[in-house]
Amino acid sequence: MREDFKISYSRVNAYLFCPHKYKLIYLDNFHIPVNANVTFGHIIHKALEQFHSGKEQSYNMLFECYDDAWKNDGFTDPQQIFEYYECGKRMLVNYYKSFSESDAEVLYVERAFDANIGRYKFIGIIDRIDRYPDGKYEIMDYKTHVKVWEQERVDRDLQLSFYAYACKNIFGFNPDEISIYFLSENRKIYTKRSKSEIADAINLAILTAENITAEKFNPDVSKCQLCDFKLKCKFSVYKEACAELCPA
Ligand code: SF4
Repeated sequence: MREDFKISYSRVNAYLFCPHKYKLIYLDNFHIPVNANVTFGHIIHKALEQFHSGKEQSYNMLFECYDDAWKNDGFTDPQQIFEYYECGKRMLVNYYKSFSESDAEVLYVERAFDANIGRYKFIGIIDRIDRYPDGKYEIMDYKTHVKVWEQERVDRDLQLSFYAYACKNIFGFNPDEISIYFLSENRKIYTKRSKSEIADAINLAILTAENITAEKFNPDVSKCQLCDFKLKCKFSVYKEACAELCPA
């Protein structure tokens, strides 16, 4: 294992999905195919980062940031580009309205953190941290996909637990509000994290790091159908099922 190994949400998530998927991405340098949803998510995150980092936070500036962030990678055709572009515009119109009506101060966007957990380096990036006039803090994660999650899924989201840990242990404040901001519906779902939930999440990150450094990369074939590498991975049962259905 490389000496500069750092554990992060993305790495834990890949490992928990399937340990062999982790190996393909992080050790064998397989690339997850770019698609419209992935590119669109990056565009919106980048546009909002640029917008909140700039001095002028006008409506026009938000759309300038959007145009600057736009790229066509991963879209299948001009019609799809047009549809996503228009969808992004609608999202940002609603976003700007909510932003301009809020009395919260946007303290940080894309705030990186770097800590030690156990004997591992632990890194991440928080999409946004706000401070309200009464001194309360809110941390939030942006999501750009269409479907808004159920409360239960937000409550058990591992990334938010990592964010909460970082705020408390690295930035030195307790997040009073924790939310996922579903931009497609301009709607936030709020959640809480107890001390023990945060501790459990960190223990899971440490355990995952231990499994990775011990090079435990057994394939979890129950996930193959949902996997980005189902057509490339040598363990994929999906590939075998396809071959049976469509013999060459
Ligand atoms: S195809 Fe299956 S075994 Fe291979 S990485 Fe994906 S989930 Fe794991």
